[in-house]
Amino acid sequence: MRRWIATVFGASPEMLANIAPSGRLGKRVLINEILSLQLIITAIIGALAIAGLYWGGQWVLQDNYSRWAMQWTEELNELGAPLYLPNDDEAILRLESFIDKYPEIDRVSYYEAGGSVIHTLKNSPEITGKNPTIGAAKLLELESLIGTEAPYLVESSFLNARAFQIMAPVWTESIPGDGLFNFDPAADSPRKQTNLIGFVGLELDFSLFHNRLLTNIKIAISVLLLLLVVSGFLGRRYLARALTAISDLQQPIAELAKGNLAVEFKPAEHREISEIVEALETTASALGERDARLLRLANHDGLTGLFNRRRLVEELKKEIDNVTVNETSSAMLFIDLDQFKYVNDTCGHPAGDRLIRKVADQLKRTVAPAGLVARFGGDEFAVLVRGISKDETRVLADQVLEDMRRLAHIEDDHIFHVHCSIGITMISSGKFDHDDIIAQADIACREAKESGRNRLQFFSMSDREAEKIVADVGWVNKLREAIDNDLFVLRFQPIVEIETGTITHHEVLLRLIGDNGKTISPDAFLPAAVRFGLMAEIDTWVVTNALRVLAEYRETRPDLRFSLNLSANAFEAEDLTGFIQSHLEKYDIPPNAVIFEITESLAVRHLSYVECQIASLRKLGCELALDDFGTGYSSFGYLQRLEVDYIKIDGCFVRDLVNKPVDQKMIRMIAEIGQEAGMKTVAEYVQSGPTLALLADLGIDYAQGYFIGRPTAVPTTKSMPIPINLNRHKHTGLNG
Ligand code: GH3
Ligand code: MG
Repeated sequence: MRRWIATVFGASPEMLANIAPSGRLGKRVLINEILSLQLIITAIIGALAIAGLYWGGQWVLQDNYSRWAMQWTEELNELGAPLYLPNDDEAILRLESFIDKYPEIDRVSYYEAGGSVIHTLKNSPEITGKNPTIGAAKLLELESLIGTEAPYLVESSFLNARAFQIMAPVWTESIPGDGLFNFDPAADSPRKQTNLIGFVGLELDFSLFHNRLLTNIKIAISVLLLLLVVSGFLGRRYLARALTAISDLQQPIAELAKGNLAVEFKPAEHREISEIVEALETTASALGERDARLLRLANHDGLTGLFNRRRLVEELKKEIDNVTVNETSSAMLFIDLDQFKYVNDTCGHPAGDRLIRKVADQLKRTVAPAGLVARFGGDEFAVLVRGISKDETRVLADQVLEDMRRLAHIEDDHIFHVHCSIGITMISSGKFDHDDIIAQADIACREAKESGRNRLQFFSMSDREAEKIVADVGWVNKLREAIDNDLFVLRFQPIVEIETGTITHHEVLLRLIGDNGKTISPDAFLPAAVRFGLMAEIDTWVVTNALRVLAEYRETRPDLRFSLNLSANAFEAEDLTGFIQSHLEKYDIPPNAVIFEITESLAVRHLSYVECQIASLRKLGCELALDDFGTGYSSFGYLQRLEVDYIKIDGCFVRDLVNKPVDQKMIRMIAEIGQEAGMKTVAEYVQSGPTLALLADLGIDYAQGYFIGRPTAVPTTKSMPIPINLNRHKHTGLNG
């Protein structure tokens, strides 16, 4: 059946297979629709043409017959006039030769004026029958035609539309002076006299001519029909070929959609399709470029162009496998620049960036060709050196220290000598995974810092470290279990506006439920979570659960707002804002009901991307708080770049505020800077009324701590009569 359709419509079987593959049966097929339409149009045009040709032809013929008949009658009328005169035999001959020329004239009869036949001429002996007779009524009718414009009486046969009878009077005309008739000169007689001498009658049959003509018309119509059909089929075949080129694109486009960018498109014959092919090729190459760019972004650090942490971890995993199989050894170096912050503080962040790039270039040169350098963020670098012994690693690390010492960097009028601390761990078996290796190198680097910086330190599994790692690994298992089985719980600690005493929001705090059912504070497990890369999952758990709980409470307490802590990992995630936005939308929470906290030290350490994330979260409508302010870098310059809504002053300045004038000065300064920068200040660790009163006096906006409210399982609604308390404590706590 398909083959039949293919033959009729000029489509290839492959094409038909594409047109109606089993899964797509029931869908309209473009080619069938076009072909059907074409067929219908061809049929209509053909039918109209045939009808027009046939009926038009008929009409023209009929019209011509009567005109010819009249013309012949006129001529025969003249040619027959001598018959009425005596001795004119030549007239017969002339008449015979005339009717010989026109086979359509069956018989010509001449009548005398009384109506009896005087002469008959036949074109063929087969013509029999009587001459038509002229009755008295017809005589009068014919006589009345004399001198008229059309002196003919035409009668057609009822049985044969192509057969006519024509009768006409034969008369003579005389004008005065021609001597034919007498004119009475006195009388007001006509200027012309006519005299009826007889009649001529023609019997005509156009059937033969008509049939011949109709046969020709039919042949023409058949040729026309044939041409229409042939052109229809040719058109279909052509269309089918053009559409095949489009359906041929289906396969490469599917390949493209699967991500095969090397897919080849067949060159097309037609301009339109070749434009589509060109567009697809451009799309494929643009996608290729975009993929390459994304791959580069995913694997490289934007500032230095070095590999990033993600890529180094991939390489490290491969190297661990390689070392295990080939029983070789490799080294992992963790490098952190010494006092790098000083460069930023002295000459600004762009100067720091320039130095980081310079260090990156130098590192690449020093460890080439065996070493693979990556930037972990901030001033941290990691180097993976393949197939190297411990002694060779020591030599290489010494060379790094030496090259760094010699790397002088000039900015404005300052010359910086870059020093660094290097932590090294050897990779010689598959005993430790990539997280362990990075943690070991990191630990060794911190030891190098603690021992005075500008030095290298191999990680050694001292008993203490071994215990620590075992303990950390223990935590990792517990944390993984907690994430999988929802063993975390949330607690909520109120934060009040000091001036009014109203609770404006709650900080959400994470607790882990231990084996004995006791809650464990994050101080115990977060360091292990950070070291073993579990923070991203913990952050996700906190955000998801806190927002779900917030949505539940907001049904009855629509003013409730939560402040959530996020780790550096969360800020590192490219889609942080998208993730938060999707959860806010899922729970129908307005963005301004959520505040995100990041510690000052993490924010500063990962300044470049934290800065962008803060801007993007604030654009979403959330608020941001800089936590533990004062303990880290405390460089107020960073506040210009970290545009947060709240500064949360670290508890260590608040705890003994009443007795420490230095802390009071510090807090006053932070409050003033906060005011200047349009940021609200929050004091943590407020444990007494006098401290609160003092904070109010120092210009702090918000307070949090046991005096205000302990963390509880349900966010408290009880606000404090703070203005009264403030008055009571106002004079007891101020030192100076
Ligand atoms: P230490 O000797 O203990 O390493 O002290 P440090 O000053 O080098 O401090 P640390 O390594 O803890 O912090 C790194 C600093 O790097 C903090 C921040 O000022 C800076 N930093 C982080 N990211 C960037 C960046 O992208 N560009 C610049 N210029 N500085 C950055
Ligand atoms: Mg450093």
